[in-house]
Amino acid sequence: MKQNLLDGKALSTRMRAAMRDEVAALSRRHGRAPGLAVILVGDDPASQIYVRNKANGCRDLGIHSISHPLPSDTSQQHLLGLIGELNQDPKVDGILVQLPVPEQIDAEAIIEAIDPGKDVDGFHPYNVGRLTSRIPALRPCTPYGCMKLIAQTGVDLHGKEAVIVGASNIVGRPMAMELLLAGATVTITHRFTEDLAAHVARADLVVAAAGKPGLVKGEWIKPGAIVIDVGINRLPDGSLAGDVEFATASKRAGWITPVPGGVGPMTITMLLANTITAFRNRIGETD
Ligand code: NAD
Repeated sequence: MKQNLLDGKALSTRMRAAMRDEVAALSRRHGRAPGLAVILVGDDPASQIYVRNKANGCRDLGIHSISHPLPSDTSQQHLLGLIGELNQDPKVDGILVQLPVPEQIDAEAIIEAIDPGKDVDGFHPYNVGRLTSRIPALRPCTPYGCMKLIAQTGVDLHGKEAVIVGASNIVGRPMAMELLLAGATVTITHRFTEDLAAHVARADLVVAAAGKPGLVKGEWIKPGAIVIDVGINRLPDGSLAGDVEFATASKRAGWITPVPGGVGPMTITMLLANTITAFRNRIGETD
């Protein structure tokens, strides 16, 4: 089957161009740009790269990004205090705490402390609950980005078999809610699932998000299926790989995302989109 690449980089570039114009118009009308506060606790190198990419994304669009680097021994109380201040700050529309946080900090409590209207990651139980109740507000960025990529295929998901590999709070579970909303018949597989191959083999759409390189074998893919690979795994040789065996899967898939250049750029793009949405909601301009 002819390979059909779902190019997240290209889609991101197109979406960000439109968003740049939108930010310029909003800034002119309201006398200030949307503002995103990014908190990074500690000096994890991967987190530093993610935070830098997010700041660069903001700068490129004209979004005001405010960075809050904190030492790795920051207390939970201090972090909660900062979030409280940012919740009250009228110039801050979005608040993001880069995960993972050091072990002395309870990530759930931190997420719950963020004003849901400023929760641009979409991780707050309020926003997860809104999506689950079919009234989405700020949507979790990675699944939201996956939906934008899937929309590129033009395939109507109503009644399609969708299989998600991975059940995390930030990818697998909200992905299931997005796909249910789009009318798919959804299966969530996880570490206790028996016979993953059989589940994947009947899927018209596979979303892989387990964090295990090559977990999903190319030969399992149903011919013509849409394959969305969320996994980002660093191999011993330093290269990046997804959770799907790309070389074999791409021969069978109707559409497939590459790693890198698939879901990754879309996640940041949707974070920027959520920041604009949060700004619009806060100033009461929702058209
Ligand atoms: P996680 O570790 O929180 O969750 C992994 C999930 O995979 C768990 O639910 C686990 O039960 C499941 N799993 C493990 N082994 C399995 C198996 N054999 N069969 C089926 N399910 C299995 O991970 P996460 O935070 O959801 O991230 C998953 C991957 O996605 C990682 O590689 C991460 O780097 C990547 N990621 C990418 C982006 C992006 O923007 N592209 C965003 C978030 C996460």
